[in-house]
Amino acid sequence: MRVMNIRRLRPTTALVGAAALGLTTLTACSTNAGDGRTDGKLDVVASFYPMQFLAQRIGGNAVHVSSLTKPGVEPHDLEISPRQTADLSEAGLVVYLKGLQPSVDRAIAQAEPKHVADAASYTSLEDHGTEVEGEHGHGGEDEAGHEGEKGHDAHEGHDHSGDAAADPHIWLDPVRYAQVAKGVGKALEKADPDHSATYKKNTTALVKELSALDQDFRSGLKGRSSDTFITTHAAFGYLAERYGLRQEAISGLDPESEPSPARVKGLHTIAKKDKVNTVFFETLVSDRTAKTLAGDLHLRTDVLDPIEGIGSKSRGDDYIQVMRANLKALEKALGAK
Ligand SMILES: [Zn+2]
Repeated sequence: MRVMNIRRLRPTTALVGAAALGLTTLTACSTNAGDGRTDGKLDVVASFYPMQFLAQRIGGNAVHVSSLTKPGVEPHDLEISPRQTADLSEAGLVVYLKGLQPSVDRAIAQAEPKHVADAASYTSLEDHGTEVEGEHGHGGEDEAGHEGEKGHDAHEGHDHSGDAAADPHIWLDPVRYAQVAKGVGKALEKADPDHSATYKKNTTALVKELSALDQDFRSGLKGRSSDTFITTHAAFGYLAERYGLRQEAISGLDPESEPSPARVKGLHTIAKKDKVNTVFFETLVSDRTAKTLAGDLHLRTDVLDPIEGIGSKSRGDDYIQVMRANLKALEKALGAK
C-alpha cells in the first residue's frame, strides 16, 4: 500500500508554481456548457505534466488545458478529489497515462469521460521494475545482459496497477513520446473534428522536434567513456534502453520506496566497478539518499529530471528544454564531453 507522504507534497510550492506558470486550473472547466467546451475551446484535462505538454502543444489555441497534478507536485501518489472526478466527466478530452497514477485510473473509470486518450495505448510498455531491490542485482556475474536485453516480455494487459507492473515512464524516451504525441493528436481530432487541421499540423511539428531531440541524444552520447548512471527513482529505464545506457536506481519505479541496505551496498559495488562519477537526484522528491550515497562514495551530484512536473527548480520551462538539460548532465556524467 502506498501511504501519503506529506513531506513530498508541499502544497504552498505547488500553488506558487501554478501561479507562476499561469496554468488554467480545473475549476475553469466548471463553466463549460456540458459539451466539453468553454468559449468554443475544447476542455482538455491532462493527468500530469508530460500529458499536459502534449495537449498544449498539439491543441494550441483550439483547447483549454488543465492538469490534475499541480506544478511542482510529484505525481505518482496523487489523490483525486470527488470534485475533480466530477469535472472529468465534463471534459472534452482526458489525456492520461494508465498505470502511473492509480487514483487517476480509478477516477476516469468512474467518471467515464466521452473522449479519453491513454498514452500507454499508443506505444509499447515493458517491465523494468524488479532489479532495484537487490535480489537480481546487476553485480551478479550470471547476469551479463542489461535490462534492455531481457525486459521485452511486455505486460500488455495494463491492468495491474499496484504490484510490480510495466514501467510507466515512457515519456522519457523521445521516440516513445513521439508515438504518444501522434496518438494524442488523433484523439484530439476525434474529440474536436472542426480543428483537425490544426491538430494535424501541430502534431507534425512536435514529432519533428522530438525526432531532433532523439538525434541529439544519439550524437551527444557518442564517445562516452561509461554507460552506467545512478539515479534516484527508476524513471529512466526506457531512456537507458533507447541509448544503450544502464540505469541503476536508488529507489524503485515509485519514488516513495526506500532502498534496502543490500541495494545501497550493491550501488557501492556498481559505482566502483563502472567508474561512476555522479549520483543524480531529482527536483520533486527528497535528495537525501542520493546525497548520502554520493558523500559516502566521494562522487559529485547533479540533477537528472524525470519531468514528472515542471516547478521552480526545473532546468527549463518545458519538456524539450528539461530533456536538453538532462542530455547535458548525462554527457558530463558519462564522459561524453
Ligand atoms: Zn516516476
